[in-house]
Amino acid sequence: MNKSFNRILVSAALPYANGPVHIGHLAGCYLPADVYVRYQRAKKADIKFVCGSDEHGVPITIRALREGVSPQDIVDRYHAVIKDSFARMGVSFDIYARTSSPVHHQTSADFFRTLYDKGLFEEKETEQYYDEQARVFLADRYITGTCPVCGNPCAYGDQCEKCGSTLSPEQLINPRSTLSDAVPVRKMTKHWYFPLQDYEPWLKQWILEDHAHWKNNVLGQCKSWLDSGLQSRAMTRDSQWGVKVPVEGAEGKVLYVWFDAPIGYISATKELTPEWANYWCREDTKLVHFIGKDNIVFHCIIFPSMLKAHGGFVLPENVPANEFLNIEGDKVSTSRNWAVWVHEYLEDFPGCEDVLRYVLCANAPETKDNDFTWKDFQDRNNSELVAIFGNFVNRTWVLMHKLCGGKVPKLHENILDDTDRAMLEAFAITRVKVETAIEQYRFREALYEVIDLARQGNRYMQEKEPWILAKTLAEKPENQKGIDNCLHICLQLTANLAILANPFLPFTAKKMCHMMKVVEKMLDWENAGKCRLLSVGYSLRGPQLLFRKIEDGEIEAQVSKLRANAKVAVQPAAEAPAPAHAPVKPEIVYDDFGKLDLRTGIIRSAEKVEKADKLLKLQVDLGFETRTIVSGIALHFTPEEIVGRQVVVVVNLAPRKMRGIESQGMILMAESADGKLHFIQPADMINPGSGVS
Ligand SMILES: [Zn+2]
Repeated sequence: MNKSFNRILVSAALPYANGPVHIGHLAGCYLPADVYVRYQRAKKADIKFVCGSDEHGVPITIRALREGVSPQDIVDRYHAVIKDSFARMGVSFDIYARTSSPVHHQTSADFFRTLYDKGLFEEKETEQYYDEQARVFLADRYITGTCPVCGNPCAYGDQCEKCGSTLSPEQLINPRSTLSDAVPVRKMTKHWYFPLQDYEPWLKQWILEDHAHWKNNVLGQCKSWLDSGLQSRAMTRDSQWGVKVPVEGAEGKVLYVWFDAPIGYISATKELTPEWANYWCREDTKLVHFIGKDNIVFHCIIFPSMLKAHGGFVLPENVPANEFLNIEGDKVSTSRNWAVWVHEYLEDFPGCEDVLRYVLCANAPETKDNDFTWKDFQDRNNSELVAIFGNFVNRTWVLMHKLCGGKVPKLHENILDDTDRAMLEAFAITRVKVETAIEQYRFREALYEVIDLARQGNRYMQEKEPWILAKTLAEKPENQKGIDNCLHICLQLTANLAILANPFLPFTAKKMCHMMKVVEKMLDWENAGKCRLLSVGYSLRGPQLLFRKIEDGEIEAQVSKLRANAKVAVQPAAEAPAPAHAPVKPEIVYDDFGKLDLRTGIIRSAEKVEKADKLLKLQVDLGFETRTIVSGIALHFTPEEIVGRQVVVVVNLAPRKMRGIESQGMILMAESADGKLHFIQPADMINPGSGVS
């Protein structure tokens, strides 16, 4: 961890060119990466920031089929939209490349060929579903039919969303391809598998021992993957769209999108600079991948194993993945259009790029999923950016023009008091706090410290009250010195704020440079913490509004727009299927499941728990004994209607006290999309205490 590096390469996950970017994407990796990069650039680090569109993969070909255009048309459209959104939000990539470029095709084909020539792939033939009309192999999701459990005619090949049953395509009654409506057939196909299990011992050492400083959420996911055992993964697919597999006998096959996408970081660096190898092949390069949590396995396990297998490349020093940002209490869903789109934000809030950057960073899902609400957006803007940061800078400018002739006043050292000195010392203290937090990828904390410095500035000015000193200036001309000192310090503080805020709020820092009439070179990080950034006697421009108040009406309009545009349900044949279901938890082994002791039971009595709206106290007959169980179902069932019902109980769960009652088990319930609870019960009446497995 204390290794010293001479250059840094930062990558941000390649967005998929199948739609525009939303604010969850920004919060997940692009903004934190940009803050980190801008900070390192201000420190004069040798750093490159690469990204680009991920333009391969099945969903793009399917969208193209449905729209009757070519896959290239689809990616051209969204590459342009995505690139523009990033640029306008100030995400400062050194290059925004694309995986359809010839350099990328060559680089990833060469990469594959090197592993192939080393004999590292396993070749396997398997049977897969095939649509003879559309002439494509079908992922389970692209097959629909009637659910054998509930009769829902629109069940998918992997799941019925009506009854929640997990399915496989052969279980569907009357299966059809969602693309052509043809009956899918099974067909043999050959693919090349990368044996991840061979890298398991090395990965365990490299991640869990050598990189134990990674974020907890990242280590946790890695550990759960490693603990459950890795398996070979197919690195090729049957498709016409993608990087052709550079091997004889591989016609109609392309590289798996997750094989070629991370190689996109290498090809983007190649397109950026002829010195790309310095960043990829020298041990003193610090490689940092910024991603969202859904990409952890690819960046921490699969790609490093590929790099290791290939040899000659640096491995990531850190992968600071964020969790997810929900919107107004609900998971982002592009198919339901439950999202705040960046290109729409930019139209609705022109000039407010930094407000979104601020809110998404202050509320970033760094350690757990977080919620974005328009109300919080308004509050943070109005009560932090406007009332603290903007207010401090504006007061300083107005008073400096009014009481000091529009010039930087002198600092009269002989009358400095403890309050002045403490304020001056806070500059350097804040610099260290911000630095430490950014270096450890704790951007929320770093940003908090920046705002806190402005907060201290407001408090300082309030205590010094230069406007009161000005009232008695005629009788006490020596008051001018006090006024000068206060405003001198506030001006130097403003210069510090511009430097410290620059990685987070680059548009604002630029405006502040304009007000101070300084070149942007002043924003170099080495200047942070200094007390003499603006020279005495230097005349400054008039105040400029840094942030504007956001009105209730604007927020209401956004909330209505979000709700009005959200689609209720997705018709499987009309839209790419991506239902709003919770992501599947990390894989477990049978032994994990085997630890659960599940038994059937019968509810013998039920009563409400006093002062607890949601709880019912139940007596459940388990055959061998009767137990008291407290269950949070009172909003869904009355005590009378559930007596006599069969239930399934987790009987070896540690007892837990709820409202003073010890609950000796848990009853299994299913929750439907409308939030209603349903009992899980055997289809027939059986003896209480029967085992469930
Ligand atoms: Zn069903």
